[in-house]
Amino acid sequence: MTEIFNSTELRRELHPLAELGLNTKNTAQYVLDHLEKIGVEAHRVGNTNGVLGVIDSGVPGPTVMLRADMDALPFEVDGKKTAIHACGHDGHTAMLLEAASRLVGNIKKGKLKLLFQPAEETLEGANVMIKEGVLDGVDYLVGAHVRPIQDLEVGTLCPAVNHTASCPCDIYIHGKSAHASRPHLGINSIYVGTAIVNAISQIQLPPNMAWSVKPTQFDANDGALNIIPASAHLGIDMRAQTTELMKQLIEEVRRAAESSAAAFGATVEVKFATLCPAANYDPEITDELAECIREVAGDDKLAPACGGGGEDFHFYKIARPEMKNGYFGVGVGVTPGLHKQNMTFDDKLLPLGAAVFVKFALRHLG
Ligand SMILES: [Zn+2]
Ligand SMILES: [Zn+2]
Repeated sequence: MTEIFNSTELRRELHPLAELGLNTKNTAQYVLDHLEKIGVEAHRVGNTNGVLGVIDSGVPGPTVMLRADMDALPFEVDGKKTAIHACGHDGHTAMLLEAASRLVGNIKKGKLKLLFQPAEETLEGANVMIKEGVLDGVDYLVGAHVRPIQDLEVGTLCPAVNHTASCPCDIYIHGKSAHASRPHLGINSIYVGTAIVNAISQIQLPPNMAWSVKPTQFDANDGALNIIPASAHLGIDMRAQTTELMKQLIEEVRRAAESSAAAFGATVEVKFATLCPAANYDPEITDELAECIREVAGDDKLAPACGGGGEDFHFYKIARPEMKNGYFGVGVGVTPGLHKQNMTFDDKLLPLGAAVFVKFALRHLG
């Protein structure tokens, strides 16, 4: 008989393995070893530290892919750079391994793919996996995330996590240096920067949609208090409910920065990082996940969809639009919050998430 993994125990083993970005080597090995133990065919995704497990029934049918992320976050502890699982990805990996152990031998038609993805936090991992062809033939894709206590009551689950699109932006301002006693001979990059901040705070987008744009960094220093600074850097964080709205916001920010700078005779370079797309779930999958949650945990444990944050999971739907996708939240009482160094949660609730993965897979492949 196949060994059944317990995601609570697995999470406690995975927690100290915490690794960053694409370098999830030991975590990937842990996953490979566990999949091998239960007889699931698995391999690294290309030359990366992603892992793909496959259970093929050999009978025609759909392909379902379940995805967990594996990477941790960087912190400085006692002056040393340290990776800490402060976003719960150790819990996600553990849930998917438990689900795998419960699904072995029960896939009667079609194919199950189990994707363990690195580098979610750096928003690189999904695109690296996509390039290696993990989406080939996939009809249904489901992911999950543990949720902070503010989002979901402990022990409840929600059938959708409405991530927004996000896009960080760097604005480099080029003015003109001068002696501070002769400011009329220079172009003060701080004035230019404050004008840009004013302009972006007056951007107007449809008020029936959620979005935000705000400065998060501002540095200008030409070395002395009596020098008019020629250059400055302004960091901007942007969020939008949909990817389309984010594209509009990007254009507005570019226009605000360029026109504000031009008014002073300064120039700007406006650099946008990769746009992380917003959630774009298929409503029928969200409905199905709600049913799975009811069956697994009971009617009273189904919570409404929650929101917040971004996820590189949403690159998958863009790369394969014909695939149906969904993403559920697991209320494990994360405190004080995700990405906090001292983040903790009740990992005894992880088997609930594993059970939802199992239910969903069996609806299509059982
Ligand atoms: Zn995170
Ligand atoms: Zn996360």
